[in-house]
Amino acid sequence: TEPLLVVDDLAVEFRTDEGVVKAVDGAAFTIDRGEIVGVVGESGSGKSVTAMSILGLVKSGRRVRGSIRFRGRDLGTLPAKELRAIRGAEIAMIFQDPMTALNPVVTIGRQIVEALRLHDKKMSKSAARDRAIELLALVGMPDAAARFRQYPHEFSGGMRQRAMIAMAIANGPSLLIADEPTTALDVTIQAQVLDLLKVAQQETQAATLLITHDLGVVAELADRVVVMYAGRVVEQGDVTTVFTTPRHPYTVGLLESLPRLDRDVDELHPIPGSPPSLLSPPPGCPFHPRCPLARDNCRTDRPELRVVGNGTAVHRTACHYAEELAAVPTEVTG
Ligand code: SF4
Ligand code: MG
Repeated sequence: TEPLLVVDDLAVEFRTDEGVVKAVDGAAFTIDRGEIVGVVGESGSGKSVTAMSILGLVKSGRRVRGSIRFRGRDLGTLPAKELRAIRGAEIAMIFQDPMTALNPVVTIGRQIVEALRLHDKKMSKSAARDRAIELLALVGMPDAAARFRQYPHEFSGGMRQRAMIAMAIANGPSLLIADEPTTALDVTIQAQVLDLLKVAQQETQAATLLITHDLGVVAELADRVVVMYAGRVVEQGDVTTVFTTPRHPYTVGLLESLPRLDRDVDELHPIPGSPPSLLSPPPGCPFHPRCPLARDNCRTDRPELRVVGNGTAVHRTACHYAEELAAVPTEVTG
């Protein structure tokens, strides 16, 4: 059977005053039921636009190629009404800022009750109320029955996170999308949010698409990782394989720039240069201006994703010279 989500040759463009921005240019990956997939890359790599495209939420962007199939249905051709029904019920979003998802003038309990009854018209008010309190308790909300009657502004930041996640999982989604769920949070809250994501995932058994620039988060939560650069997928595979034997120089660079317990700060090696402008991406391999292994053909021939390695798990990379990369022993400590 087909995977839960299939993103195939997705390309999304934005028209700006300076020209056409190719934000996503041929992204392809799949997510199986119950699987946690981390999508990593610097800002401007196309990871957020890819996630928003799944939800049909790319306002000014235009999909110029490719398809996004969810449970066998092409989300790009669904009528807006059907897409709205899927959003929030079958596919739920976890935001970095809980107030993006919460209504400040409605009590938390009522918001969850409304979400439940919107997608299950037969659910009684009292059943919805019981389920809402159960969900709040499940995400670790202290004194859930009393909190049910309160407004978001009466909550701490951590409690708002919990409320948002309770709402996201209310309808038992089969896919959760979390976009930079821990960015800009302090380390303690980050750890709480990661624990919450684990609770949410265990409760719903939902597949999870985790968008982040933080490889530590991916190491901690994800089964598989998709590395994006300049709107393309440059490497993907199971987390252990990719982190221990990366086969794309960009992934190697990301791993080497990561703080680790066994490495002093002066041993960190940020990748020199910066990501290319997506108004005029470089020809050939988009990473060639920054790549220590680049040769002449890298400047002209675009490398396609291909299978590498000899493991049983599928490991793909888009690099002409993947085989030259020695195994980089890496232990990510988050
Ligand atoms: Fe570097 Fe060439 Fe591989 Fe691109 S294709 S990552 S430039 S070696
Ligand atoms: Mg982003």
